[in-house]
Amino acid sequence: TSAPTSAVYAAPGTAGARVNFQPRYDNFIGGKYVPPASGEYFDNPSPVTGKPFTEVARGTAPDVDAAVDAAWKAFATWKNTSVTERAVLLNRIADRMEENLELLAVAETWDNGKPIRESLAADLPLAIDHFRYFAGAIRAQEGGISELDHDTVAYHFHEPLGVVGQIIPWNFPLLMATWKLAPALAAGNCVVLKPAEQTPASIHVWLDLVKDLIPDGVLNIVNGFGFEAGAPLAQHPRIRKIAFTGETTTGRLIMQYASQNLIPVTLELGGKSPNLFFEDVAAAKDSFYDKALEGFTMFALNQGEVCTCPSRALVQASVYDAFVGDGLDRVRKIKQGNPLDPATMIGAQASNDQLEKILSYMDIGRQEGAKVLLGGERAELGGDLAEGYYVQPTVFEGRNSMRIFQEEIFGPVLALTSFSDFDDAISIANDTLYGLGAGVWARDGALQYRAGRAIEAGRVWTNTYHQYPAHAAFGGYKQSGVGRENHKMMLDHYQQTKNLLVSYAEGPMGFF
Ligand code: NAD
Repeated sequence: TSAPTSAVYAAPGTAGARVNFQPRYDNFIGGKYVPPASGEYFDNPSPVTGKPFTEVARGTAPDVDAAVDAAWKAFATWKNTSVTERAVLLNRIADRMEENLELLAVAETWDNGKPIRESLAADLPLAIDHFRYFAGAIRAQEGGISELDHDTVAYHFHEPLGVVGQIIPWNFPLLMATWKLAPALAAGNCVVLKPAEQTPASIHVWLDLVKDLIPDGVLNIVNGFGFEAGAPLAQHPRIRKIAFTGETTTGRLIMQYASQNLIPVTLELGGKSPNLFFEDVAAAKDSFYDKALEGFTMFALNQGEVCTCPSRALVQASVYDAFVGDGLDRVRKIKQGNPLDPATMIGAQASNDQLEKILSYMDIGRQEGAKVLLGGERAELGGDLAEGYYVQPTVFEGRNSMRIFQEEIFGPVLALTSFSDFDDAISIANDTLYGLGAGVWARDGALQYRAGRAIEAGRVWTNTYHQYPAHAAFGGYKQSGVGRENHKMMLDHYQQTKNLLVSYAEGPMGFF
């Protein structure tokens, strides 16, 4: 592996942080780093420079087996921990993360390419809060007692499932790990987690900070590729649940795997989220109008690598020219550059494959006859960044039937069109296989409400976008997923109900 193995962040006025990545990361099984059964490692490049900075174990089925074994061994003790003990653990993890916020943010940015201002202000604070939220939620959870008759009582207990498998994507590596781990551990399960092969390193930086807090075997990490490490995990006969975030096509496979063992699945999948701008937004050029223009630019957040990316903008025809003109001016002001520079607003795509996929969609858009209003090319940044994976924020104008309006690009690429009235807006918004997120921008409260209820999506932001608090339910309608994440309802996905039905009567039951 070639240098550098460290990433440095030293913005003026901050403490700054240097992450010294280990040159090699093994799998983490039963509380120890263990080399992969295959003996093989793969290079992990940073999207910032396009150069490898560490190598990572190439996990396969025997590693998954060992991890599942270690997890079951740990479960024998872990399942008997009290909710208070588990809440304390989650809070300690959160505290450790907060003490090392800059370090983790730098690791995340270096591994994924996202701007440091996002990792510092959003990804890490949200991840920390997630642990704290589930520490609280698990303590507040109550069982149930019902009296069936004077002598008979039904008690309901929440019990963990056992060992669960979790597979995560590369767009928010630490936050996606947290979304999965916090509720699973809070509920008393043991976990085998597979990070995405594109972004395996920041999770190991996190693990090094918190592993002394977690009993051996409660959390195991098997690195590797989807078909080599993910598929054996999802098909493993001794896991009791599989949770997955990633592409819709992979989600279909995960569901098939789970059916072999008849285990529950939660899936957070793709999206093609519509962002609707109704004409009353432009009734005055005030601060609300300005906020709506910012809403228009949100497709570029995290380089568009967000499952809820508002990748389709629908603007009412009566205000289309003026609003879009101002919106494009805002997009032109998005500052692109080195993700470790605190002034950078848009960084690098997470991988070279992703870069190529986005560029190929730009060709598809042009071939379909969509008009390029802005961008449309790879962003050429010089110096150390010359081989990094940078794409210009891009706006295409076209029709909803085009592929760039229907297929998830997962880049800073906006597909823009107009609508005539409310019914037209909702019909375009819902003309998609997906139903994950949506945005509604309007001043009229009744209009906001009607639009919010009419859009077929699990999360509709109104006059805001891209907020992910731990206590708001998140998940997909249609082909965007099964189940929810965040919110205390998430605990239901990691627990089963034990009912004890007890008779305190001494007389006969009377059947025989
Ligand atoms: P992906 O499906 O290719 O990979 C996701 C994970 O699944 C990776 O860890 C990968 O190694 C693993 N994997 C791949 N094939 C597998 C298989 N056959 N069996 C088991 N595991 C397998 O997706 P990606 O490209 O890494 O992530 C981007 C996608 O994730 C986008 O489509 C995006 O919309 C989606 N996403 C959804 C949400 C959500 O909450 N709904 C959040 C983030 C990302």
